[in-house]
Amino acid sequence: MRSVLVTGAASGIGEGLASGLARAGLHVAVTDLERHDTGSVVARIRAEGGSAEAVALDVTSDDSVAAALGALSRSPDVIINNAGLQHVAPLEEFPIAKWEYLVQVMLVGSARLTRAVLPGMRQRGFGRIINIGSTAGLKGYPYVAAYVAAKHAVIGFTRALALEHAKSGITVNALCPGYTDTDLVRQSIETVRAKTGSSAEAVLGQLTAANPQGRLVRPQEVAAAALWLASDEAAGVTGQAIAIDGGESVA
Ligand code: NAD
Repeated sequence: MRSVLVTGAASGIGEGLASGLARAGLHVAVTDLERHDTGSVVARIRAEGGSAEAVALDVTSDDSVAAALGALSRSPDVIINNAGLQHVAPLEEFPIAKWEYLVQVMLVGSARLTRAVLPGMRQRGFGRIINIGSTAGLKGYPYVAAYVAAKHAVIGFTRALALEHAKSGITVNALCPGYTDTDLVRQSIETVRAKTGSSAEAVLGQLTAANPQGRLVRPQEVAAAALWLASDEAAGVTGQAIAIDGGESVA
């Protein structure tokens, strides 16, 4: 049984990834910040007959990454760098500490965990690094400059690392969802609503209008793409940024 480690897996897309990959028969390490409830995600997976364990993992800390990998019952064959967060503000009002933290979590955190698992993957001759990018890695959006910059950088990281490992059985790809039905998007809607005075329905309407299919992406759709990338049959797919966005990034 192959194993996958998902970061930021207590909620949203991460929880969808953990559940979807467990249903497909992988052992899942459900990881998130200490304060988040990874235990209930594991309980739900086990209740459905899946195999999972919960481990605290803060991607901004070397010690936390080392402790989490040391605590796992098996080394991950697949990692999904999913941990992320958003901050919405015009640049002049964007606290630099927030800017740095977004980059630390989504870009540097992905590199930190990835470099820690690479030796094991190289030794086994198999590995799958899946970075959760975003359509914000493929195009710009206003008032979320740190997020857009970090996600563009994640795609650059994906391309460079894919080439470094092209001959080692390890592939490195990014999945780029459009607006997805998660807490992160619900919070962004609330922030925009509070700042602009528009109704939540109107803000949601603006987000769904960005997607040519006129809807939010579902976390299960991201999980299905990750499952394919994790498979033996996707061995030739590396360095790619795959949009799951109803066509938004090509509109
Ligand atoms: P979410 O807020 O539900 O989940 C993000 C998770 O990351 C949280 O559980 C949080 O605790 C965790 N996290 C934050 N900082 C962390 C850290 N330092 N170490 C470990 N975990 C940390 O949001 P989501 O929408 O499910 O987002 C998941 C990923 O998908 C993010 O990378 C996000 O940028 C990306 N994404 C989301 C959307 C969307 O519309 N929701 C679209 C495209 C991409």
